[in-house]
Amino acid sequence: MPAFEAAYLQAYRQSVLAEKARMSADMLMDCDLCPRQCHVDRTAGKLGYCRTGRQAVVASFQPHFGEEAPLVGHNGSGTIFFTHCNLLCNFCQNFEISHGGEGGAMTHRRLADMMLFLQAEGCHNINLVTPSHVIPQILSALMLAAADGLTVPLVYNTGGYDRLSSLRLLEGVVDIYMPDFKFWDNAIANRTCHAPDYRETACAALKEMHRQTGDLTIDDAGVAQRGLLVRHLVLPEHLAGTREVMRFIAGEVSVDTYVNIMPQYRPCGRAHEVPALGASLSPSTYEQALTAACQEGITRLDQRRPLIFR
Ligand code: SF4
Repeated sequence: MPAFEAAYLQAYRQSVLAEKARMSADMLMDCDLCPRQCHVDRTAGKLGYCRTGRQAVVASFQPHFGEEAPLVGHNGSGTIFFTHCNLLCNFCQNFEISHGGEGGAMTHRRLADMMLFLQAEGCHNINLVTPSHVIPQILSALMLAAADGLTVPLVYNTGGYDRLSSLRLLEGVVDIYMPDFKFWDNAIANRTCHAPDYRETACAALKEMHRQTGDLTIDDAGVAQRGLLVRHLVLPEHLAGTREVMRFIAGEVSVDTYVNIMPQYRPCGRAHEVPALGASLSPSTYEQALTAACQEGITRLDQRRPLIFR
């Protein structure tokens, strides 16, 4: 197997990364980075749906051991949690960060130093959590970090509500795409996060991510290097449309897609606005979701089993 090199390093050497950073920074002046297409001038302090201006806001950064095993390895995944979000689900499990705005604004230099710190801590990757609204800031920081020795894979950990034009800016930069596929039914997406085009957007995004990076590859030590890893949070009363989501992934992305079907739903934030979301997930609904995934042809399910159901 050839030695692994993070995708962004070649982009950096060939000055492609600099061009992508410049192009995306220009987009902040009339922001259409994500499907919300707010067309506000974030460089002038105007705020769109994501409530984020010129600088990225970060809630926390740390080695994280709660992610999927191929990301965690022995030393953890180097998570950087961005504040605010372009999706804003009413049941968000990190409501204080996404809706409440907990966090501090960061310069590109500070963001780059976070990446370098996490690598120095031994983290196997830089895991950008909720990055869709801060792509320009990430690319500018990555320029600085690459110049100063960053080498570990870059993980784009997104809610799946991403524009193709923005994802294409990330081609040859991101190593591992980790999108959620949250809902199949656009009516549910509209009720929970005012995204009536979520299904079509997420379908197109997953196909593009897979086109860029392929199925998830894992090295001999069990650590992820490149590819697609999809997360799907099972919701009460089958609101997430698990069977349809899995049918799409197996049929139109790849049967070898690495999928984590997550059981940890609990009512948070304004979940009570949708009556079915007012209760935690039942073990039987979760088991039915796992069965549906297998029946639809998914072959690489994350093997962790939820402690709460053991
Ligand atoms: S990134 Fe923010 S400001 Fe830009 S289009 Fe999306 S929600 Fe609107």
